[in-house]
Amino acid sequence: HFITLEGGEGAGKSTLARALAERLEGSGINVVVTREPGGSPKAEAIRQTILSGQIKEHGPFVEALMFSAARIDHIDRLIRPALARGDWVICDRFIDSTRAYQGELGSIDPGLLAELERVTIEGLLPDLTLILDLDPKIGLARAARRRAPGETRDRFESEALAFHSKLRQAYLGIAQSEPERCVVIDATQTPAALAEAAWLALRERLPI
Ligand code: C5P
Repeated sequence: HFITLEGGEGAGKSTLARALAERLEGSGINVVVTREPGGSPKAEAIRQTILSGQIKEHGPFVEALMFSAARIDHIDRLIRPALARGDWVICDRFIDSTRAYQGELGSIDPGLLAELERVTIEGLLPDLTLILDLDPKIGLARAARRRAPGETRDRFESEALAFHSKLRQAYLGIAQSEPERCVVIDATQTPAALAEAAWLALRERLPI
């Protein structure tokens, strides 16, 4: 089974991915934890190019193409082989990040983006997507605390609060339009409470 975690900055996606993997492993399930952008060597190289801001001048459509190229490699090299072995895959960000960041926030034509998504994932929709919902003020404060002293904010984190409020609405909109795939979880909870709520959602929807 394929599970994705989505949400804005500082929502706790990567911590939750590890916590869920531990619980699934405890139930005798083999788990691969991965992330986007990245997750395979070529996709990680593309991640560096995007996050360094080198292609920013070309706008959100080129960015979406690069995220898609990275996703194709990640799917081919890591996700599909793991699922074929019978492992479960937990991925920190996937298609909904592209829909939210490049689509809603980058204002790419929705039809065009949907077509790009279709040829990129070739039917590999997540079985379950957990959307970690958080007031952006809290998320940005968490993300700022996480940075090492002297480390600069990446190009995404330095965007204004308004950007993250729009992002939150984009994710909630996705959850509303696909309730069979998406579950919204309150990410203001402690990491332990968040893991418990997510685990309940998994047990309700997937064969554990
Ligand atoms: O989740 P993580 O911090 O690793 O994501 C790296 C950055 O890439 C984030 O700041 C996020 O805003 C950005 N991103 C994006 N579009 C995507 C995926 C990630 O702008 N499709």
